Amino acid sequence: PQPNPDTGAAVKAADRAHVFHSWSAQDLIDPLAVAGAEGSYFWDYDGKRYLDFTSGLVYTNIGYQHPKVVAAVQEQAATMTTFAPAFAIEARSEAARLIAERTPGDLDKIFFTNGGADAVEHAVRMARLHTGRPKVLSAYRSYHGGTQQAINITGDPRRWASDSATGGVVRFWTPFPYRSRFYAENEEQESARALEHLETTIAFEGPGTVAAIILETVPGTAGIMVPPPGYLAGVREICDKYGIVFILDEVMAGFGRTGEWFAADLFGVVPDLLTFAKGVNSGYVPLGGVAISGAIAETFGKRPYPGGLTYSGHPLACAAAVATINVMAEEGVVENARRLGGSVVGPALAELAERHPSVGEVRGVGMFWALELVKNRETREPLVPYNATGEANAPMAAFAAAAKQHGVWPFVNMNRTHVVPPCNVTEAELKEGFAALDAALSVADTYTA
Ligand code: PLP
Repeated sequence: PQPNPDTGAAVKAADRAHVFHSWSAQDLIDPLAVAGAEGSYFWDYDGKRYLDFTSGLVYTNIGYQHPKVVAAVQEQAATMTTFAPAFAIEARSEAARLIAERTPGDLDKIFFTNGGADAVEHAVRMARLHTGRPKVLSAYRSYHGGTQQAINITGDPRRWASDSATGGVVRFWTPFPYRSRFYAENEEQESARALEHLETTIAFEGPGTVAAIILETVPGTAGIMVPPPGYLAGVREICDKYGIVFILDEVMAGFGRTGEWFAADLFGVVPDLLTFAKGVNSGYVPLGGVAISGAIAETFGKRPYPGGLTYSGHPLACAAAVATINVMAEEGVVENARRLGGSVVGPALAELAERHPSVGEVRGVGMFWALELVKNRETREPLVPYNATGEANAPMAAFAAAAKQHGVWPFVNMNRTHVVPPCNVTEAELKEGFAALDAALSVADTYTA
């Protein structure tokens, strides 16, 4: 990359003057001006390069600027940039076919949205109309999107400012052996007790009032807690027992992230609705959607589905999805995530954990890993308090700054760093990243006691 600090300064100045940023106190942020990106890297206008251990917001599953996807978007733009959703359009038909071929079970109908939150909105609407029931059960440790219903379903603190008393949402605790809410001593107990807690919650809410249970198959931003054996199959059984729609949110976990096309495949579980976005086309053009079971599709066979979007199945986004899915298949991207996740990432992170007292736990699968940073390994006290800001968050800020200084852009959420590089990352790139994490964890170590 050619350094060009003057352009960088102008880009930054216009941003600061006019761009209103997500989830931020506008005066307290300092966004990096990014000049370009390719593969697993991006760079600033001073020519400093970063290895992207975040995949953007965990969505560039094939990295930046994949030439085949860029070419497919250019070609689609040259032939049919856009067309209204009521028509049958080649890119849309083909994207739906490729997605439906990969989704588990009989999830064979695809409703396209512009992203993940609106996919969740529509999945919940479908579940309510299909069952005629009002409530949705969701996990405290979850994130489902920033629109009104999706943020209400969300468990994490991003919900607090938008909580509504009329949302019809009931939250429950999901398995997390490292910080068990169930006093469990092993995964089997955790799974059984979490299921018992869920079924009791349903009994006290009234089973006939619950339309849907929504879960991230592997919770993402909340901390990458791979569910213990039997849990998701147990939730499936509970849903069947009470006629509740089971929604799996695979906006983050889908399209290769866990080393499977869908994380549901890790557990052999088939939901009634599955939401996706992000990795479906690596976010090159905004796209999300809901994959719908035969039974729910049938509800809307003769009765109109009351919902839609101007850009549902936008041709540019769908062409990017077709190209992305084909690239992932041709280049073995899902297999790469599975193979390097097991043979390189897992062992390397375990080795870092051995040497760094700030690492309380390493967990994950595929290219989806979390390091839980702690003040003290015995007490498991988090390195920073839940939802800490400002001075209270200084240890994590120092960790992130050190990682960046060593050339890795880290994903940081509360007291965790997530290792979520593109699913087509190479072994050499991973090793470069772990060397930087090693240095940054030494900084985190200075805050342990
Ligand atoms: N669901 C999950 C599991 C997510 O991780 C996200 C975003 O991070 C969303 C939904 C919301 O997606 P979007 O930001 O595209 O609306």
